[in-house]
Amino acid sequence: MPAAGTRSPSGARSVAEAAESPGALWQPSPNFGDRRGAAVPDMIVLHYTAMESALAALARLCDPEAEVSCHYLIGRDGCLWQLVREGKRAWHAGAGSWEGRSDINSRSIGIELDNDGNSPFAEPLMATLEALLVDILHRRGISSHLVVGHSDTSFPRKSDPGSRFDWRRLALRGLAVWPSESPGAASDLRRWRDYAERFGYGIGRASSDVGNPETAAFSAFRRRFRPWAGDAALDAEDLRIAEHLAKRNYLDPTDPTA
Ligand SMILES: [Zn+2]
Repeated sequence: MPAAGTRSPSGARSVAEAAESPGALWQPSPNFGDRRGAAVPDMIVLHYTAMESALAALARLCDPEAEVSCHYLIGRDGCLWQLVREGKRAWHAGAGSWEGRSDINSRSIGIELDNDGNSPFAEPLMATLEALLVDILHRRGISSHLVVGHSDTSFPRKSDPGSRFDWRRLALRGLAVWPSESPGAASDLRRWRDYAERFGYGIGRASSDVGNPETAAFSAFRRRFRPWAGDAALDAEDLRIAEHLAKRNYLDPTDPTA
């Protein structure tokens, strides 16, 4: 990389082309184009290189004959390279789609991870990836649910970053998403309780003599509005009923069809 304020002999490269993310080494690849439709990147696609080393991957990603590239490459020792400006369209995703849109390269930033596809991802690599995602997501306002794998956009053609990749680890830091540990149950109960309290049930005020006030209120609600459901667990119909009650969306006594 040229020193500050200097230019390479061709004049094509200047300090303005320093890497965009802190700690990244600028190692430009010729393999890129313009984002079609002037798209702004709003998602991130993660890959593994499936090569023997990061340097071998770097050589291939910068080889004009190979016609592949990515924006960032992370070595298993945590070293970070930037190969293509974030505003440009790197060639990493190929055919695929996400949320009904098919030109993934035009809307994404591609990150290659130095991993053979069968081994655990090295800790220094994961630490660098986390720092890079914190930077890009924050700087570009990208939502964590739009950090996806190449296999998400391009199944069954692609399987990277593969089953050894720790998505849950990223999700715990808000850098990707993972399903809630008890799917739906806890949040549904919270929603039901919120509706029931807005309708009038004094769940927070109930004496603990009744046992769990939430459970006791739910029994009362069921007994009044849905006795035929018995002791079955909270479900979508309970939420529907409670929501109508909370919103004062009551049966109209003047409606002859009611
Ligand atoms: Zn890939």
